[in-house]
Amino acid sequence: MPAAFHQEDEFRARLDAGLWWKIFRRALHLKRYLVPLLISAVGIAVCDATYVQITRWVIDGVARDGADAPFTLYIAASFGLTLAFAVAVWVLIETAGNIAHRLAHDIRRDCFDRLLSMELAFFDTRPAGWLIARLTADCNRLANVLAWGSLDFTWGLSYLVLVAISLLLMNWRLGLLVLAVVPLLALISVYFQRKMLLSAREVRRVNSQITAAFNESIQGVRTTKSLVREQANLAEFQHLSTGMFSAAVLNARQNALYFPLVTTLGTLGAGLALWRGGYLVENAELSLGTLVAFINFAIQFFHPINQLALKLAELQSAQAAGERVLGLLAAEPAIKDTPVVLAAVAHASDSAAQSKFEIRKSKISPLAPDGLPGAIDRIEFRAVSFRYATGPTVLRDFHLRVQRGDTVALVGASGGGKSTLVSLLCRFYEPSSGQILVNGRDYRERPLTWYQSQFGVVLQTPHLFQGTIRDNIRYGRLDATDAEVEAAARLVNADEFIRRLDHGYDTPVGEGGNRLSTGQRQLVSFARALLANPQVFVMDEATSSIDTETERLIQRGLETMFAGRIAFVIAHRLSTIRRASRILVIDHGRIAEAGTHDELLRQRGHYYQLYTGQFHHEREAAVLA
Ligand code: ADP
Repeated sequence: MPAAFHQEDEFRARLDAGLWWKIFRRALHLKRYLVPLLISAVGIAVCDATYVQITRWVIDGVARDGADAPFTLYIAASFGLTLAFAVAVWVLIETAGNIAHRLAHDIRRDCFDRLLSMELAFFDTRPAGWLIARLTADCNRLANVLAWGSLDFTWGLSYLVLVAISLLLMNWRLGLLVLAVVPLLALISVYFQRKMLLSAREVRRVNSQITAAFNESIQGVRTTKSLVREQANLAEFQHLSTGMFSAAVLNARQNALYFPLVTTLGTLGAGLALWRGGYLVENAELSLGTLVAFINFAIQFFHPINQLALKLAELQSAQAAGERVLGLLAAEPAIKDTPVVLAAVAHASDSAAQSKFEIRKSKISPLAPDGLPGAIDRIEFRAVSFRYATGPTVLRDFHLRVQRGDTVALVGASGGGKSTLVSLLCRFYEPSSGQILVNGRDYRERPLTWYQSQFGVVLQTPHLFQGTIRDNIRYGRLDATDAEVEAAARLVNADEFIRRLDHGYDTPVGEGGNRLSTGQRQLVSFARALLANPQVFVMDEATSSIDTETERLIQRGLETMFAGRIAFVIAHRLSTIRRASRILVIDHGRIAEAGTHDELLRQRGHYYQLYTGQFHHEREAAVLA
């Protein structure tokens, strides 16, 4: 948990003009909505400017004609304008909302797609909460700012241009006087926006850490409670929350100062118009209607500038969200198909209609999608060394050769590198040096998704997804029939416990499978792996939570599963791997001993000690019981 608290937000693309353009290009795809958005935004600006001109026309008309002024025409013109304004506002809000939601949807989907394509090492260094914040808050924020921002920019800029032209046309000297306030306004805006961006960024950074901390705390609540670490967690959390509080207060203070300053400058412009314009009216150089229009414009002129400044500030604070989202979208998976493999797959699928069929049926096909033989007959680790992004070297110059039909058991002290070995085998990670060969060829020459789909992996703490037991087993092969699902469960001896549940196969498993015991989850994940019909089985402490009696029962099922395939079994309970064709004792990333159960016992080395130690322990436990 503390690791998540201190996670630095280092994963970010620098958001320059080029990257903003990339984001805007996404919005440009929504042409169907952009055109009405732009037309209605300009329409509103025209309505606003026309309204001031109508006021001028009415005042001058009444001053000139008195009771003979065409009041019906004035009322009709005002009403018509209000109607046009209402329609434009309706179109604008409808389309801007649509654009925001569609953009958020597109960005979220692309981020999620990118996330799923990333290798495991990517997830090692980024806590779930951090990633969830990218997919939710950041995506929405970016889309909203883009949609509503483009609306306000279009409206604001067109209104500014219209007002500036109207002011200069009505009286250019007075117009220039009012416009003189603009440079000061721009300076203040630039200064404050930079400051506000930094504090907004800090707020979001800490917020992301807080989300990660929440997530970790909730996931690890059992551990926290069992160790009575609530106060320690609270203290860590308090520290983060205080950081967020200070940054948020600073941001609020800057906002509080900035907006009154901008508004005061707006009033200053109106005051200048009144002072100089009043003098001109008195000398009959300006009509009263024009003076009122000037004051109205002068006041309203600062409204779009205010709005533009606000949107710019929002855009800048969304820059942090944009940087993180783009950082994610621009991330390249470290483990992916090489161009040569991609070309081979494309060629194989183009060259014959039959190949297309092979791709769909690749699991049972004699050919992989790249046209290479689909059967995995031999796997070889050749001088493989590996270290994680953090930490020391885990495997050193590791050699291993396994044939179809072999069941290889990996035993040894924790931290020796057994799980790392199978993670490398499944290509969740790739060797730092050396090679892993499949049928004599580097495994990077095979298409990644095809290769990984040939593995059936069962972990010590298997993850079950929300849904029923049936859904979870079917996750192994989505088109499996109910009969196939149940047959797989029978083979691994899960059928009996499933039928005893209230709703049998249709029993919901709860979040992460928490309504089932760990042993039951392991049985379900056995059935799931079996249903996928993989060529290679990997069991990482997969039977550790199943009682010895049930394990004995599924042992036969496992032997049927492993027949004609390659299997890697990591086990602490040595009774489970007695029948393995080869047992490897892994110690500090090397093979300390290798052989069958009987051979290793005869050697009286590491394995003998491990085995006799466990055997005595079990016997003592049995006697005590
Ligand atoms: P075993 O399965 O034999 O218990 P592992 O392969 O899990 O051993 O771990 C071997 C070493 O690699 C340990 O020192 C462990 O701390 C380290 N390690 C395992 N997973 C990671 C990871 N994702 N990031 C960094 N180090 C790791």
